Amino acid sequence: MTAPIFDTISFIGVGLIGGSMARDIKAAGLARHLVGYARRQETRDEIEALGLVDQVASELADAVREADLVVLCVPVGAMGQVAGDMAPHLKPGAIITDVGSVKRQVLVDLRQSLSAANPIVGGHPLAGTEHSGPSAALTGLFRQRWCVLTPEADTSILALEKVRALWEAMGSNVEVMDAEHHDKVLAITSHLPHLIAYCIVHTATGLEAQTQEEVIKFSASGFRDFTRIAASDPVMWRDIFLNNKDAVLEMLQRFSEDLTALQRSIRYGEGESLQQVFTETRAVRRSIQDAGQAGTFDAREPEAMPLSLLAPYASD
Ligand code: NAP
Repeated sequence: MTAPIFDTISFIGVGLIGGSMARDIKAAGLARHLVGYARRQETRDEIEALGLVDQVASELADAVREADLVVLCVPVGAMGQVAGDMAPHLKPGAIITDVGSVKRQVLVDLRQSLSAANPIVGGHPLAGTEHSGPSAALTGLFRQRWCVLTPEADTSILALEKVRALWEAMGSNVEVMDAEHHDKVLAITSHLPHLIAYCIVHTATGLEAQTQEEVIKFSASGFRDFTRIAASDPVMWRDIFLNNKDAVLEMLQRFSEDLTALQRSIRYGEGESLQQVFTETRAVRRSIQDAGQAGTFDAREPEAMPLSLLAPYASD
């Protein structure tokens, strides 16, 4: 057991991510008291039955009143609303963080809803699975995974360091960066791959009935992996695309151009060009493996591509 980093931590939303954090924080004694808020009775019952937190709250006011740290673990599009509703009940100085997959828009929404007395440290653990809800919560989900923190320009060092210490105590590697930079990096490493997976599975389901059966029957690793990604939570991903629109559209434009080039190479039988591209992409996989970020199929999604690999995408 480590010494507690916070007295009371409140989770607003206790699903896969909030629940997994609660499991690790509880196991390591990183807080003295854990509170979990969920809007639906069914979810609250599940949190209670799993023993994820010490206190389950049905009202936001009760959930945050004593909190030293509030962790917002709701879909990106709900962050602003939830923050506005809890704002009047927060202790001055209580630190607000989140786990949303988009950072710039969330920081804007949170700052509009909260008083200046509450420091904000944006956060995004690059770990997850395609499952949702409290029962999907896993112990050790964040171990050896990146967690990106995006403080505001005037966030106190103390607030940032306390949130960093929490993630490090859960085994994450922490990287601090600008919210816009985060959104560009994630647009290519996570958001675009999800969009492609959704699109391929959507296209396959649009095929006539017999072919569809064969798609399922012969779904070897390629298509099967896409179906796993495309099974991710629809509300969460709707919000990600709506809130990271610019960066996703930019990456989609680049992707479309590269796809057209591959299409041309296939049409005109340019084997050398195809082989050249596939050789380069194989090298990317090797660098990820060398960096220890290849992931295993242990239910944790390999969402953690080393950020340094993406510098060319993120810097322009
Ligand atoms: P989840 O398992 O579906 O849990 C979401 C929680 O938010 C539930 O407790 C749900 O409560 C609550 N909630 C949903 N909509 C709400 C609303 N409008 N108002 C108040 N509460 C609401 O989701 P998750 O996978 O943990 O994702 C949570 C956040 O983590 C998202 O912002 C996502 O972008 C981010 N994230 C996800 C992953 C991933 O792989 N899943 C990875 C990194 C970051 P009820 O059940 O009562 O509705």
